Formats: sequence, structure tokens, C-alpha cells
Amino acid sequence: MRLDRFERYPLTFGPTPIEHLPRLTAALGGKVEIYAKRDDCNSGLAMGGNKLRKLEYIVPDAIASGTDTLVSIGGVQSNHTRMVAATAAKIGMKCVVVQESWVPHEDAVYDRVGNILLTRLMGADSRIVPDGFDIGIRKSWEEAIQSVKDAGGKPYGIPAGASVHKYGGLGYVGFAEEVRKQEADLGFKFDYIVVCVVTGSTQAGMIVGFAADGRGDRVIGIDASGTPEQTRTQVRQIVDSTAELVELGRKVRDDEIVILEDYAYPAYGVPSAETNEAIRLAARTEAMITDPVYEGKSMQGMIDLVRKGWFPEGSKVLYAHLGGAPAINGYSYTYRNG
Ligand code: PLP
Repeated sequence: MRLDRFERYPLTFGPTPIEHLPRLTAALGGKVEIYAKRDDCNSGLAMGGNKLRKLEYIVPDAIASGTDTLVSIGGVQSNHTRMVAATAAKIGMKCVVVQESWVPHEDAVYDRVGNILLTRLMGADSRIVPDGFDIGIRKSWEEAIQSVKDAGGKPYGIPAGASVHKYGGLGYVGFAEEVRKQEADLGFKFDYIVVCVVTGSTQAGMIVGFAADGRGDRVIGIDASGTPEQTRTQVRQIVDSTAELVELGRKVRDDEIVILEDYAYPAYGVPSAETNEAIRLAARTEAMITDPVYEGKSMQGMIDLVRKGWFPEGSKVLYAHLGGAPAINGYSYTYRNG
């Protein structure tokens, strides 16, 4: 596999820690050992998160293109647009982000706190539009790119989640390589990796990275999109393009792409009672904060799978914590009593 031939612009601190979660392990019966890889603590850039690993491989292409403005898209409480705004600030570029109305919300401050607050603080031109949830390429994004051109700027488009971009999958191939090195130090291998999936390049990169040692099917994607067919199609495409880029040397089989669809209900961005129970359990056992949109759903999935005995007894499970905690500020009504 050839990840090293791609230029990487460092935006993160380096390898992220792997932490054992003994109290969560015990709360779930102790038959499966649970660990977390803390990509939520990966950078000093505006609270970090999974997008920075992807953007590290995209920024060199952006700089080489001669751009002066990064243009991206997400929901109102998008972690991704926060990370693009952070990257633009850090490398001295302008930033335009389209924020679609992906989530029905009751919270009075939803569009003023958390991710969008940080995005605005970093100087991004944040444009709220009424369009609903969709992980695909969007007209509003193309219009934003055009508006930068019309104003004499040189835009560089980064799609939702930095996923449908030629280099979008590389960052999480790097995650797998990093885990392999950490496993050598720990003296054991993880049996499963649990990861939240929505726009797809996080899991797709991991699948390609772990396919290199025959473990692609051990990456358990927990869908949080609520549109799993679209997500699955996008993961498949990114797996194929990324495998070719890094010269995996074979096609990844369909059975190596594992996405569980049972936890995204009732809708993208809306936590169920079980999501909230999972968020509280991780917070109360490990002080590990997960959000109601993404990590709360993958936490819910992992907890349910452990309780159901889905992982064989004695398994070591690595929960990939991808960040996203700032969004919780937009859910103050939901958690006003803890
Ligand atoms: N977790 C967090 C915190 C995110 O911001 C995202 C972004 O969409 C995801 C998980 C899902 O990752 P991906 O979009 O690469 O599937």
C-alpha cells in the first residue's frame, strides 16, 4: 500500500491516543473489552475531529491549485464546515460555507451556538440555506463556488464531509496504519473497530487501510444518516477510488463493507431515547462526551451490539471517536436535566 506518496499538510497533533474504557467495559458486563481511539482530541484547531485527517491530504492540492477561498457545505451544526473554517484560518485563506437546514430543531439557540458559533468566530462567511438533508453534491454548494468566482476570487470546493473528493479517503487509510503501529506497541490486535458513517470517507478509508491486513470487514460502520442506501453507495465508490489510489492491489469485496442501519432512527440529527441513554452512559462512566448527531449513534450501536452478544466473548473493540461534541450545545433542551 502506498499512502506515503501523497503529500500531507499537518493539521493534527500526530497519532491519537488509544484509551482503555474500563468503567464502560464493566457497565456492559465485562465480556468485551472496550477501547477508544480519540480522534476527537486530534488537534488544537477549533476542537478538532475526523475531518482534519481528511483535510491534511486535501490542503496540498488546494494550495497547488492557487485558490484563495475554501468553499464547503454541511448542516447548520456541521462539524465539517467548522473544520474547513479552521483550516482556512490556519493556512491564511478565506472560507465560504453553506449551512443547510438538515435537522428539525426546537432549540432557540441552535443556529447560534456550538459549531456555527466557532465557524463564524474564525471568520468564515457562513450562509444558511433552507435545503434539507442530503449527502450528495448540492446546487447551493455549486452556487457558492460560482459566487466566489463572480466576486473575482479563486474558489476550491470541498464537498460535504470532505468525502466525494479524490483524496477524501486517504486520511483514514492513515488511521489504519496508525492503529497497526499502536497494536504492535500494545501487544494485541483489535477484533473490531466501530465507526459512525454518514458521508462515507471515514469508514471507506478505514476499510481500505484495514483490508491491507485482511480486516476490512472488522470495521463496523454504524449509519447515522438515516439514508443508508445513499451512504452505502458512497462508501463503495470511495473504497474503490481510494484502493486504486493507494494501490491496494485488489478490489475490496462487498462483504468487506459492513454498515449497520439500525441506529439512525428517528432521523439524521435527531437522537432517540436509546441514543441519549448511550450518550449519558459514556459521559457517566468515562467522562467521554459524544454528540446526538454522530458519535452518540455509534455509541448506541456499540452498546447494543455488546449487550446483544454480537461480539464474541473476549473481543477487543476499538470505538473510533470522531469528534463532534460542539454540536451538543444546540441540544440544550434535550439535556437540560442531564
Ligand atoms: N462523526 C462526526 C463527529 C462527524 O462530524 C462526521 C461527519 O459527517 C461523522 C462522524 C461521519 O463521518 P463521514 O461523514 O466521513 O462518514
